[in-house]
Formats: sequence, C-alpha cells, structure tokens
Amino acid sequence: MKAVEIICTNCDTEAFLKREPVYEGLTKAGEILSCSACGFVFASEEDVPFKEKTAAPQVFTEADRSEKVEVFDEGENKRLCRYCAHYVVNPFMQFCSHHKKEVQATDTCAQFLAKEESLDAPNRF
Ligand SMILES: [Zn+2]
Repeated sequence: MKAVEIICTNCDTEAFLKREPVYEGLTKAGEILSCSACGFVFASEEDVPFKEKTAAPQVFTEADRSEKVEVFDEGENKRLCRYCAHYVVNPFMQFCSHHKKEVQATDTCAQFLAKEESLDAPNRF
C-alpha cells in the first residue's frame, strides 16, 4: 500500500493517511480517511491535509532538505507518547501499553521509553 503523507490538522504532526474501506452489506460504500498519528477522521478527501498540497513550492534540492532536517532540534518532542515504545495506535484509539490506558500522541510521561526510529513506519499496525 502506498503511504500518503499528510500534515494533520488535528495533532499538527507529519503522519500518514489511513484508508479504511466501509461496507454496507457487501457493497463498498466509501472509505474512512484518518490520521495515522492521532486517529483523527477526516470528513472527506477534500478535508485531508495532504503534505504535497500544504508544502511550500520546492525551491531546495533533496540534498539541501535533508541537511536542514539534521539541524532541526527535536528536543522535548522526543518525549511525546507517539515516540514512546509503549505507544500503540490503531484506527480507533491510541493506547499506552505501560499504563494500560488511552493516551494522545502529544501526551508525555515520566516512563517515556524511546522506541526504534523504524517503528515510525506506516505499516506497524
Ligand atoms: Zn493527527
């Protein structure tokens, strides 16, 4: 499945668009479009904040761009639930496997445990 990048209008993070088919009986009635980070459901295709649409015109080359990313200091952001190894997300809720409770991607806590970068891929569900 092709990953579509969005900049979520609800949690304000770069995430992936999740498409869940909706069936009425045996007929596909439509799709639920939601944010992979916070689970926010977009009302329609027009409401999805696609990254391509919102991003500024590409002035820099790819090389310039990756250098800028290295310079960016994420600091405190790295302690957010969405970067935590205990954080579990599915289309309907976000869950902390340490506290056994529902959390938000932007929550923080003292038991933060950094997860591997590779787990941020779209197909970890
Ligand atoms: Zn979101």
